[in-house]
Amino acid sequence: MNKIAVVGAGISGLSIANYLEKHQLDYHIYERRKKDDLTGHGFLLPKEGIEYLSQIVEPSVLFKQGNFLKKYIRYSHTGKVLAEKDLHDVFVISRSSLIDILARNIPAEKISYEETVTPCSIQKGKLKKQDGTYIDANLAIVSDGSKSRIRRVIFKGETMKSVRENEVVNIIRCRDVAARLEDNFMKYHHEDGGLSFGILKLSEDTVLWYSQFDNEKYRINEQCSAESLKNYMFEIFDNWDPMVSSIVKGSNYENVHLWRVYELEKLNPFYKDNIVFIGDAAHPLIPFTSQGVTSALKDSFTLTKYLTSEKNTSEAFRKYEAERKPEIEIHIRNGRTLLDQFLKPLDQQTENILPISYK
Ligand SMILES: Cc1cc2nc3c(=O)[nH]c(=O)nc-3n(C[C@H](O)[C@H](O)[C@H](O)COP(=O)(O)OP(=O)(O)OC[C@H]3O[C@@H](n4cnc5c(N)ncnc54)[C@H](O)[C@@H]3O)c2cc1C
Repeated sequence: MNKIAVVGAGISGLSIANYLEKHQLDYHIYERRKKDDLTGHGFLLPKEGIEYLSQIVEPSVLFKQGNFLKKYIRYSHTGKVLAEKDLHDVFVISRSSLIDILARNIPAEKISYEETVTPCSIQKGKLKKQDGTYIDANLAIVSDGSKSRIRRVIFKGETMKSVRENEVVNIIRCRDVAARLEDNFMKYHHEDGGLSFGILKLSEDTVLWYSQFDNEKYRINEQCSAESLKNYMFEIFDNWDPMVSSIVKGSNYENVHLWRVYELEKLNPFYKDNIVFIGDAAHPLIPFTSQGVTSALKDSFTLTKYLTSEKNTSEAFRKYEAERKPEIEIHIRNGRTLLDQFLKPLDQQTENILPISYK
C-alpha cells in the first residue's frame, strides 16, 4: 500500500486528505503555517462546488458557516442598476471557516503544522523537511498554492506572469451593512473600466468586500501597510455611490489584504515521477473565474478516484491529468475574457456578465 505525503493544508490539501481518510489510505499532511493562522478572504462557490464539498463534509455544518446568495446586481459606480441576475445556489464562505470545517475530519496525528517541505535536488521524487530529513512516502500530492516552490523546482522553465488586475479584500463585522445587502451580491463598476467594488454577506453580522483594480492605472506599492490601503480606498471610492463610500469609510482595516494576481504563461504537466500537483499548485486560476476552490475539490475527487481504481500510480496520474486539464484550460480562457471585459469602459462591456466562469 502506498504511503502518501500531502504538502499544504489549504483547500486542496485538506480536501484530498478528507477523501484519503474516507478510503482509509495512508497519508500525512505537512503544512508550513501555524495551526491557528487562518487568515484569508472568502470564496464564491457555484453549485458544483457545494456538491463536491457535500461528499466530504456535513452540509448542515457547511451551510451554517456561510450564506447562499439570491441575486447578482450589477451597478455603475454612481449606483445605477445595469443588470440583475438570479443566482442558483451560489454560496459564499470565508476561507478560515472552510479550512476549519475541512480540518475537523483529519486526525491530529496525521497533520504536522509549521513544517515547510522542499524538493530534494539530488534524489529524484524525494521531498525534504526543514531539518533536512527525507519524507518517508512513496508518492507526494503537492498542494502548496499558486506560487508552488516545488513546482518551480521540478518544472524549471515555467513563466509566472503578473496579471493586469489586483485585489484589495476585507472582511468586516457590521450587522447593519449585512442587513442592507439582504442576500444579494452587489458589484459596482467604474464607467472608465478597470475598477470595481463587490460586496457579499457572509453571515448576519459579517461582510466581505473587495475592490478589483487595473494595476496599470491604479498603482499600489506591494509592501504597503493597512493604513496605506485604507488611504487608497478612501481616495479612490470617495465619490462613489453612498453604499460603497459609506462601507469604505466605516470599515475596520485590521483584516485588509492586497492580492497580487499571477498566472502561469503555460500550464505544466500535472505530475512528474511520483509527485502530483492539485489545486492552485497545478493551475493558478485568476480570481475572476471564482472557480479556484471548486477546481481544487474536483482535482481531489478525481485524483482519489484513480488512485483507488488504478493498479499503478503513473496510470492514475495520467488519467487524472487527462480528465482535469481540459476543464482547467476552459476556466483559464474564460478568466482572460472576464479580465478583458473588466478592463474596458463600461459601455463596451457585455451587459449581463456574471463574475463566475462556467464550463
Ligand atoms: C483575491 C482572490 C479571490 C479569490 N476568490 C475566489 C472565489 O471567489 N472562489 C474561488 O473558488 N476561488 C477564489 N480564489 C482562488 C482560491 O483562493 C484558490 O483557488 C484556493 O484557495 C486554492 O487553494 P489551494 O489549497 O490550492 O492553495 P492555497 O490556499 O494557497 O494553500 C496552499 C497551502 O500550502 C502551504 N504551503 C505553501 N508552501 C508550502 C511548503 N513548501 N511546505 C508546506 N506547506 C506549504 C500554505 O501555507 C497553504 O496553507 C481567489 C483567490 C484570490 C487571490
